[in-house]
Amino acid sequence: MTRPYYIVQALKFVWESSKKWTILLLITQVLQAVLPLCTLYLIKLIVDSLTAQTDTLDFQIILQYIVLFGVLHLVQAIVKNYQQLISETQQQLVTDYMSTIIIDKVVDIDISYHENAQYHDTFHQVQGQAVYRPVQILKNLSDLLRNGLLLASLAGLLVFLHWGIAFVLIAFGLPIAGVKWYYSKKLFDWEKQRISLEREASYLNEILTEGNYAKEVQIFNLGDPIKEQFVKVRKVLFTEKYGINKQRARSGFIAQSLNILAMTITYGFIAWRTFQGLITIGDLVMYFQAFQRGQSAIQQALTSVVGLYNNRLFLSHLFELLNIESLLKKPKHPTPLPAIIQEGITLEKVDFKYPGTTRNVLKDINLTFKKGQVVALVGENGSGKTSLVKLLCRLYDPEKGAIYWDGISIKDFRLKELRQKISVIYQDFEKYHFSVSDNIRISDWQQPIQEQTIKDATYKAGASTFIEQLPNKFDQQLGRLFMGGAELSGGQWQKIALARAFYKEAEVIILDEPSSAIDPLAEAAIFEHFKKLAKDKILILVTHRLYNLKMADSIVVLQEGSIIEQGNHEELVAEEGLYLKMFEKQVKNN
Ligand code: ADP
Repeated sequence: MTRPYYIVQALKFVWESSKKWTILLLITQVLQAVLPLCTLYLIKLIVDSLTAQTDTLDFQIILQYIVLFGVLHLVQAIVKNYQQLISETQQQLVTDYMSTIIIDKVVDIDISYHENAQYHDTFHQVQGQAVYRPVQILKNLSDLLRNGLLLASLAGLLVFLHWGIAFVLIAFGLPIAGVKWYYSKKLFDWEKQRISLEREASYLNEILTEGNYAKEVQIFNLGDPIKEQFVKVRKVLFTEKYGINKQRARSGFIAQSLNILAMTITYGFIAWRTFQGLITIGDLVMYFQAFQRGQSAIQQALTSVVGLYNNRLFLSHLFELLNIESLLKKPKHPTPLPAIIQEGITLEKVDFKYPGTTRNVLKDINLTFKKGQVVALVGENGSGKTSLVKLLCRLYDPEKGAIYWDGISIKDFRLKELRQKISVIYQDFEKYHFSVSDNIRISDWQQPIQEQTIKDATYKAGASTFIEQLPNKFDQQLGRLFMGGAELSGGQWQKIALARAFYKEAEVIILDEPSSAIDPLAEAAIFEHFKKLAKDKILILVTHRLYNLKMADSIVVLQEGSIIEQGNHEELVAEEGLYLKMFEKQVKNN
């Protein structure tokens, strides 16, 4: 997409979000261009009538001019007043609209982009700037229209006096615009170059001020050292930006001085012409004001041109974000997912590395998850268990090999449809500051709320007892962010997360370290419910804890991204490999 196209596209956003208000804004702009000119001409008529060398001075006419003058000012005042309402309303509508466009994009963006620093740089700039740029582009254009019209008519008027004056008016306005253009580009480049540092400062500020970090900030006495680092980073940013702004002020002053010089010479010239009797006093007043307004119109017009240029630069970040293409290719002709899974999911010769990295974290994985089975993935930290789960949900695609769902590659399905069939609770699940019910039904939010299913899921997750003890039970607000919220223990939160997995009507249920904060007895009961669910589903359990795994139909042992053992508990014990070693160690430690 080329940069001029950005402007067209930005105007399209403006139009789509606020048609009526955009029209009103344009009308007020045109009126603001025309009305000052009319008042200026009236002043000339009044002065000329008063100074006319005739015996029959008709005050009636002057009175009419003055009344008209008052009416024009009244209209101008109305326009000015409502313009603020119109432009603020329109700006709010466009900004909200842009926010939803950005949210739609970010919600759908591949997970891998969230792990990419360059993406974060772009997003940071978009978030801070892009939402209000489209409306500014419209403002630039309409200001340009208004000031351009005004300037053209004023320049036309001044040409009557002398063509040189119109030339001076325009020529001496250019240096000011040049300075603005040069420094806005310089600031843009500087901000782009320094965005990582800016993000670092925001991040440090977040650590210091957000509740999640408060415990560690206080216990580790992190306040002072992190604040020092924050101040240091801000100081670098401040000093560099101040340097550019100082240069801009200096250059701006020189350009402004040239403009003042032009004004002084022109005023002298007009006064000289009047002195010589070549023009009337009314003309003098009109030309003085015309030149003055002309100067301000040219400055504003050129500022709009520079603003247009500047806003277009910032829009490049927005379109960079909006044009990001998913690495997960959409099928051209998607195959509908089988309503009910018949056989299972198979991974064939799967290799995987995270985008932007070089090491394979999964190597030559051949594995089948059969319908009706509980399969446990075990292995040491970093052996690739979670990565394998992420591939099953198609958060990433394998580097090599393929994953089949009842024999069909999962790449042939619509992504949303595939994900609707899978329920996953990751070990770093989120704690939402919503009610208990909403925290549970979040796994299937788009379906109408099923209160009985929520209760059943809660029971299976072993969460009923403590929820019944909460003051507002299922309506209890969780977390302490909002009034009346209750905080839960780590284990209780984990049970809420487990209930999420049980709530969703899915074909494949995956629990990644689902019970690390839950005691072994409660875990055994939960696994029992889990096992009962398995009749017509696929259940996958990622876990470190091995003592409750006798219930699993198959246990897959991963080491450094490869499958090294596979079988049920008894078979793996008999194999006397890594599984037995890990199992014995855990039994001894308990
Ligand atoms: P496990 O679940 O068995 O503890 P993971 O699948 O989380 O292991 O991680 C396997 C390997 O992949 C680890 O070496 C880890 O450093 C790497 N890894 C995990 N997540 C990412 C990521 N988002 N980007 C790059 N590397 C990752």
